[in-house]
Order: sequence, then structure tokens, then C-alpha cells
Amino acid sequence: MASPDVFHDVSFSHVSAAAAAASPEEAAVASATALFGGNGASGAPRLSLVSNGEPKAAKHALEIDLSDAQMFKLGPTEWLCVSGESETKGCVEEKLYSRAIKVVLRTEAESKAFYLAFQQWKHRVISGKDGEPMENGVIVSSKNKFDTKIEASSAKMYFHYYGQLLHQQNMLQDFVRTGTYYAAVMENRSDFEGRVVVDVGAGSGILSLFAAQAGARHVYAVEASEMAEHAQRLISGNPSLGQRITVIKGKVEEVELPEKADILISEPMGTLLVNERMLESYVIARDRFLVPGGKMFPTTGRIHMAPFSDEYLYVEMANKALFWQQHNFFGVDLTPLHGLAFQGYFSQPVVDAFDPRLLVSPPMHHTLDFTTMKEEDLYEIDIPINFVASVGTRVHGLACWFDVLFNGSTVQRWLTTAPGSPTTHWYQLRCILSQPLYVMAGQEITGRLHLVAHSAQSYTIYLTMSAKMWGEGAEQGGILQTSTAKLELKEPYYRLSQPQPYVMQQDQQQQLPSLQPQGSGQQMQDGLSPSITIEPDQDSAAFTR
Ligand code: SAH
Repeated sequence: MASPDVFHDVSFSHVSAAAAAASPEEAAVASATALFGGNGASGAPRLSLVSNGEPKAAKHALEIDLSDAQMFKLGPTEWLCVSGESETKGCVEEKLYSRAIKVVLRTEAESKAFYLAFQQWKHRVISGKDGEPMENGVIVSSKNKFDTKIEASSAKMYFHYYGQLLHQQNMLQDFVRTGTYYAAVMENRSDFEGRVVVDVGAGSGILSLFAAQAGARHVYAVEASEMAEHAQRLISGNPSLGQRITVIKGKVEEVELPEKADILISEPMGTLLVNERMLESYVIARDRFLVPGGKMFPTTGRIHMAPFSDEYLYVEMANKALFWQQHNFFGVDLTPLHGLAFQGYFSQPVVDAFDPRLLVSPPMHHTLDFTTMKEEDLYEIDIPINFVASVGTRVHGLACWFDVLFNGSTVQRWLTTAPGSPTTHWYQLRCILSQPLYVMAGQEITGRLHLVAHSAQSYTIYLTMSAKMWGEGAEQGGILQTSTAKLELKEPYYRLSQPQPYVMQQDQQQQLPSLQPQGSGQQMQDGLSPSITIEPDQDSAAFTR
């Protein structure tokens, strides 16, 4: 979108032997204009190469259909454009041979812009009009990794959501989130200065603008939703930074970039870190765009887990299904559906900010290293869990949250969503057991958190929790009780009307990124007792959004 569509003083020559032999005088043109645009009635994108100032200009005009064209880099300013050529014999159109044209630009900058323009025009065919009938048939693009694993209807809704400014605003206004990214970038200028950056899922373009502020040589802001247009507007409106940013509309799985990146920046985290399955796109972007050993911001992520006890929440959920226990609802017995309704409520993970004093034992965590993990590692995440109860109580399920690390060369900064830390728009997540477990202080709780990805960009959660026998008879090692739950991460219950446990003063908020010591808010994550976390202010509501 940002790159121009007309390139002057381009030279081009036929490389394919057939074309050169047919008309040797046309094999090379020293000065031409390259023009990207839609062609005639079909609107199919074309690259036209028109020779300059020659009497026989028309004869030297060359049209390349971009829908099946490919570009190969020959040198800093040289490209090889290969495309199919077809001939009509009778009524049958046949692909005869491939046409190869070498195009030479004046400067390296122009060369990059030329390649981007090529990708953007070509891309318009592939993603914009895929499957639509065209004058000469139907365009069928090869599917990328995203399209093969994600249902089209899910992707459509997903990108529609992110195409709306109000949702981008919601993320931007999460001060903990945006402030921590800003701090992580600015404190690690040396990782950005003079570097090539790719912003993976740029949204409004905010992280690209941060990277440019930190001195990036060039930032490629890749965004698949319609938000790309807004990002372009925002970036153009900040010209001192915007001149070093190129917005590319498309999925990171399908777009091509003219050069490799030294560092990736992204905000791919969903609820429980993995919801939305965007981490997979982040890892694919790493493999496609990052130089070996390049940096990733964020670098690692951790899913934290601890058993919790919350009688209020349990009763609240169980009560929701009570409606179905009526025997006479306008003369109808509703009880046949009570069991299903009960199950339905307990299959919803609860999203809210809870008081960390509800945790029954110190948390444990599971680490994902974005720099080394395989995309497939995210299809199924199986975490064995093991805790020792600090108190005797009823355990109602497993509480989960996450953090990510920006492993900068200068400063390591954490973004945490832990209970008791300043609340983010991710809050925390709790998986409730319909059959709570009774535990004594010192009793071991074991089990498994098993996450299985599905094509609607989320996960099914299989939770098993068992309380091992404690006290007399423990040496026999028998498991006393086991409780299981199956939950759908895509259908959470947002329980945000309650007064929330953590509140920050306005003046604290303003200074957060610089005041927050590294790893602060980690108090729940390093095996410390819940009792030493920040004391919540029970009287005031923390949510103003
Ligand atoms: N970076 C922005 C937006 C984060 S939200 C910020 O920090 O404020 C994630 C964004 O990534 C959304 O705008 C979404 O449309 C985009 N996105 C998700 N998957 C993508 C993919 N595979 N390719 C390109 N963009 C993607």
C-alpha cells in the first residue's frame, strides 16, 4: 500500500530463450517504465513494462499477468520475473512455456519498493478475489499454512473483529500491556537501532511506530485484517516515523518480504496465552522472515497454574443451571435438561481478576520458547501438574495465567497477567471442576492440563486433578479422588461485574513502565506462598472499562 506503483528508468530483458530468439531486437530494453495496475474489465493485476522514448514503443510494451507470476532476487537491484504464458489454439487455451524477464531498478530502495508493489498487487488477486469467477475462469490460489488448518468462517469473524478500531483501542488502552511493550522496546534501543523489524500482526501499527521510535532502519508491518488500511493512515500521519515503515496487508503465512528481519515484534497472546492460535503465526513468521539468531519480542512465554478454592464462584456457576430444575415451568418439566445445562456452564472457563489468596498452593509453570519451538508443538500442549496444598480446603479447579519475556540485550522485561498484579485485558482464567476435591494441608495434588487445538482458532481443555492420599495409609500411595473437566477455551464466561481485587492509584499507573522493577508482579510465579502477594483492596472496583 505504501509503495509506489510506477517505476521509471527501469531496464529489462528477456531471459527465456524462446522469446529472445523470436525477436532479438526486443530482447533488451535499456530504459522503460514499470507500471503495476489492474487490467481492463477483469481487473486482474498486471505489470506493464513500457519502453521509453522509442518510436516503436507500443511494440516494446510487455504485459505480465501477476496472478501466476513469481519474482526471484538476482542482486541488490535485479529481479527475475517468471510468468506463465498462454496461447489459444482453436478454443483451447494452453500454457506454452514460462516467460522470464530480468528487471533492473536504479537503486536498492527502488528495488525493494518494486518487489513490495509486486507482492501487493499479486496478493490482491490471491486473497482478495480467491474463488471469484473471472473472465477467463476462476482464480485458485494454493492454500497457505493458516488456511489449511483454520476454518474459513472462523478466520472471517476473527479478522472482522480485529478490523474494527474499537477492539484495537481496547488493546491500546490496556496500559499495562502497551506500556510494557513501549518500555521493553525503548529500554532495548540497541536491538532496534539500524535494524530491519517485522511487526507480526501489526493491528493499528503501534508496535511498528515504537520500533521506528527506537531507531529501526525499516519496519514491515504485516496485518491481515482491514485494520491494515487504518494502520497505513496512522503511519502516514506520523511521517518522521512512517517513512521507515511499510504496511503490508496479508497473512504472515502468505506475504513475501523483500529482505530478512533482524528482529520480530508481535503481540500474539490470547487468553491462557494460546487462545486465537496466533502464536503459531508468530513461529511461522520467525521461520519465514527472521535471520538465523535474530531476536523475538516477546522471546518466551509461560503458562502458570495453581489450584484454587472459591466457594462463591462454584455456587454461582452451579446456580445458573438451577433454572432447569423447575418441574412446572408454564406447565413444563424442565429437569430433563438440567444435567446438560449444568455441564454446559462448567465447560466455560471463567475469565476474571481474582484475589491471589484464593490459590491453594504455590503455582507452577510451563515454558514456551518462541525462538526454538516448532509450530506443531502448539497443536497439542500436555502439561503434567503437581502441587502441594498449603491449606486444608475444597479445591474447585485450576487457576491459570501467563507472562511473556522480552529478552532484550540491555534489559529483560516481563509482561505479566498474574493475579495480584496490575490487571490487564486478559485477566486470569479459571477452569472449574464440577466435582471439587477435598485436600488437607500438605496433601499432594496431581494431574494434567491437556490443551488440544482446533480449527476455530482455539483449544479444547482437558483437565484432570487428583488428590493423593495423605497422612495414615499414604505410604500405600493410593489416589483418593479424581475429578475431570472438559472446557472450551473459545467460549469463556466473562465474570467481570464483581468488584475486582486489585486497584492501582492513578499516579502509580502513569509511571508504571519505568517504576516496575524487572520481573515485578512475578510474586505469584516463583514458588512463593500466596500469602505474601500484594494485599488487594476489596472495597474498590478496578475495572473502569
Ligand atoms: N500489534 C497490535 C495488534 C495486536 S492484536 C498491538 O499490539 O496493538 C493481533 C493482530 O494480529 C490483529 O490485528 C490481527 O488481525 C493480526 N493477525 C492475527 N493473525 C495474523 C496473521 N496470521 N497474519 C497477519 N495478521 C494477523
